[in-house]
Amino acid sequence: MKISNDLFIIKLLDILLHNKQGGMMKYAKIIIDIINENVDKVFNYIIPENLKQTISIGMRVLVPFGKSNKLREGYIIELTNETNLDQAKLKYIHSLQDDYSIFDEDMIELAKFMSEKYYCTLSSSLQCIMPNINILYEKYIVINYDKENIDNIINEIINKKNKQSELLKFLLINNNIKISDIKNILGISNAPIKALKEKNIIKIEKIRINKDVNIIKNYTSTSPLTLNKEQTNAFNFIMNKIRKNSKKPILLHGVTGSGKTEVYLQLISKIIEDGKDAIVLVPEISLTPQTLERFISRFGKNVSFTHSKLSDYERFVQWEKAKKGNIKIMVGTRSAIFTPFKNLGIIIIDEEHENSYKSEITPKYITKEIAEKLCSLKNCTLVLGSATPSIDTYYKTKSLKYDIITIQKRVNNTFPNIKIIDMRKELQNGNMSIFSIELFNAINENLKNNMQTLLFLNRRGHSTFISCRNCGYVMECKNCNVNYTYHLKTNKLICHYCNNIESVPTTCPECSSTYIKYFGVGTQKIEEQVKKYFKNARILRMDMDTTSKKDEYKNILDDFKNHKADILIGTQMIAKGLDFPKVSLVGVITADTMLNNGDYKSSEYTFQLLTQVSGRAGRANSIGNVFIQTYNPEHYSIQFVKNNDYIGFYKREIEERKTMFYPPFANIFFIMFSGNKEDKVLNAINILHKIMLYYNKKANLNISDVAKMNIYKLNNQFRYKIIIKSEDETKIKNFVLYTIKILKEKVCTKNIYITLSLNPNYIV
Ligand code: ADP
Ligand code: ZN
Ligand code: ZN
Repeated sequence: MKISNDLFIIKLLDILLHNKQGGMMKYAKIIIDIINENVDKVFNYIIPENLKQTISIGMRVLVPFGKSNKLREGYIIELTNETNLDQAKLKYIHSLQDDYSIFDEDMIELAKFMSEKYYCTLSSSLQCIMPNINILYEKYIVINYDKENIDNIINEIINKKNKQSELLKFLLINNNIKISDIKNILGISNAPIKALKEKNIIKIEKIRINKDVNIIKNYTSTSPLTLNKEQTNAFNFIMNKIRKNSKKPILLHGVTGSGKTEVYLQLISKIIEDGKDAIVLVPEISLTPQTLERFISRFGKNVSFTHSKLSDYERFVQWEKAKKGNIKIMVGTRSAIFTPFKNLGIIIIDEEHENSYKSEITPKYITKEIAEKLCSLKNCTLVLGSATPSIDTYYKTKSLKYDIITIQKRVNNTFPNIKIIDMRKELQNGNMSIFSIELFNAINENLKNNMQTLLFLNRRGHSTFISCRNCGYVMECKNCNVNYTYHLKTNKLICHYCNNIESVPTTCPECSSTYIKYFGVGTQKIEEQVKKYFKNARILRMDMDTTSKKDEYKNILDDFKNHKADILIGTQMIAKGLDFPKVSLVGVITADTMLNNGDYKSSEYTFQLLTQVSGRAGRANSIGNVFIQTYNPEHYSIQFVKNNDYIGFYKREIEERKTMFYPPFANIFFIMFSGNKEDKVLNAINILHKIMLYYNKKANLNISDVAKMNIYKLNNQFRYKIIIKSEDETKIKNFVLYTIKILKEKVCTKNIYITLSLNPNYIV
């Protein structure tokens, strides 16, 4: 009795809701899917009788558009009964694209927020939020037997000698065939298909692909661990805030290995008990396997994941599962923030300081900002976790915009011994190798003890290059002002920015000398050296070259976890999140490659990276040892790592930011002009600069000179920048958009690419 009663109420609710959404509404406000500023407005259409029952907000539709009434895709963002437009001029919606709505009202609100905040069209915000849906449909050709006289027409055509008749003959035997297949089989273009369609002899039918994808393979289940005192404290603190419906985001600041992930898992358990859903964001795919495993083992079928290495179809299926309520937890990279849960209770952003949380393509959103907006729309809680919070986030806890809870101790209550090694002294003492004496001895010792070692190389902008010993000429990519990287295995020079490949010259292009030498350290070089010095060690290497294929990350990590190797050599990819009990030694080959590159964030990045990579050592019961080799041992971002002193680093860095008027005290607007004609690019950006200075008399913004980018030629594009700073985000944004508009009225900016980014990750 009770059950049927509930069912009745649900049904009633459904009808009521449906009426509110669609039901008998007369008009729909629609955003047309054209990425062009001129069409970024809402168009009104009449809802035809036959769609009135099914139509609802957030659906994709086809509508006639423009003078030609060409059918275009659009999204319904509002349904209404009133319009002050002339009814006679309004057009009718042609048809629905899917049988459900893609966006709920909150997501439409979110899209509006995004287009304002990141100055892009509503249509591109909506597209960013939704998965690629077009891949779901395949187009089939069928003969239109509904048409009268079809047999006569067929007979007429079939006797001709052309592509149309060839196509038709084929269809008579194989009716209902995929367009892409038939094109391949017959080697025909679109033309005969189009011709037959116009004659109404064939129809094109869109059929939804419905194959099952199972991205979660077998797993072993785990049960919750008993939280230690600090974990319990953090758990209770966050749960309390959730229960009290606090609106403030919460920073969980816990050193590496302090058991933050276990806290997340138990928070989510509670959230699910309350009938709500959870989104967990992780920065990188290489991090996903281990973290993901822990979520899958705990929550089994309730959890799914998504990231960029899945196919569009696989991603869509996960999205749909969330939409239908078939899963409760989504773990994924940045775009997983758009998972369409109905009843979102918590968003967790792990390693919140990571750069990958800012999108580098339009809309250039910052995931944290999206998450905050979503939390206020859906009334849920945002938890940010990190051992090395971004300066911005930590500042917000100081200004009381965020709450903070700290875990100071590792679960195993040990902390690695961190030793800074001055490589200048090594050189003075005659050690020319890439290993300091101490690191060399430590690796040997570790091998003897049958423990594992991580060797980390901070490769950004630093790798093996080749140069002439006679004149000093360095082989540089012909498309970019970037040194070529030498690849040992193939004996080729590769540009890591544009992928250009060249053979190693036998003589210097500059002075014809034959003295060509390899310099610098790349992961391959380290591997070679490790092999030379530690003959019996089993080695794995993880970098862009060894992980280009799907699953390669996971395979390397699995092998290392199962102790199939003693030493893992890698770049940034191995710095974070990995939890291997047998790793008791971490060696950082060169710590300072990122320092002093002119970016205001370079100290922050260096501190974060070194702290993270140090945190990989001694996570189980053994004591960990870390050796950081550097040419800048006195630099504060390296010194504070030694004592694991985040607060000390923060205090020093925030002073620096204040003095220099950088974030969080100012917003930075980054403007870059690029193009293949350097004089044109320079001319345009110089004119923009003049316009800006002129209008700035009133605006009072801090505007830089025009400057070359560090890599000022990239892929044959010349790149120049202007940087503007101001406390007022809206003012700076309006100013830039306005002055660029004026520029475009004055100067032709064709073939000049303009990149705009508010508070970008890098400004060099
Ligand atoms: P973090 O996410 O802060 O880096 P993890 O959650 O990875 O830390 O925890 C580090 C290690 O400690 C993991 O191997 C984890 O399984 C273990 N661990 C975490 N919490 C507990 C606990 N309460 N009791 C026992 N082991 C724990
Ligand atoms: Zn030379
Ligand atoms: Zn190049």
